Amino acid sequence: MTEDAVRAFIGLGSNLGDRLANLKEAVLRLSKTDGVSVTRVSRVYETSPVGPPQPDFLNAVAEVRTVLSPRDLLAASLRIEEEMGRVRHERWGPRVIDLDLLNYGRMEIDERGLTVPHPRMHERAFVLVPLLELEPDPLLPADHPVTSLPLGPSAPAAVRPFAPPIEVP
Ligand code: ATP
Ligand code: CA
Ligand code: CA
Repeated sequence: MTEDAVRAFIGLGSNLGDRLANLKEAVLRLSKTDGVSVTRVSRVYETSPVGPPQPDFLNAVAEVRTVLSPRDLLAASLRIEEEMGRVRHERWGPRVIDLDLLNYGRMEIDERGLTVPHPRMHERAFVLVPLLELEPDPLLPADHPVTSLPLGPSAPAAVRPFAPPIEVP
């Protein structure tokens, strides 16, 4: 990886099949992607679902260094979802794997099909808890200070430590 590599964070989620194996498989596939190296992964958390009634999720965040553009990193992530058999049904429904691009360096992007920082990340304890393990000062969507985050007394019940950090492949 060259010195021009950018540090990015990818949020992972799974609530179908062998959820932990799915997260590990996605990390492995990310690490095998040309132009991407996985540098660290958070602990794995079990989290209560948002959206329609469905099984609990496992969530984690991976730190990567990449020479891919934001577009290409998103495309690689969507390709991994597809290869792992993700089928899109209802919005926020159950899924084998979900890969969201949370941060790409400190870049702010708002294009069709790609918004970074991820526009709902600041509302989601299941994203913030693992992300804050890796980065104490993540870039949030504009105008959302870290003091506004939903990490009050109800957060621990909704985001429960499940497994130690996934090993970097
Ligand atoms: P949410 O985005 O609220 O977490 P979701 O993950 O269920 O919901 P998907 O169906 O996985 O949503 O993604 C829909 C589309 O969102 C993708 O095809 C992608 O083009 C777009 N998108 C925009 N910004 C991002 C981003 N930062 N990370 C991932 N997808 C994004
Ligand atoms: Ca998502
Ligand atoms: Ca997604």
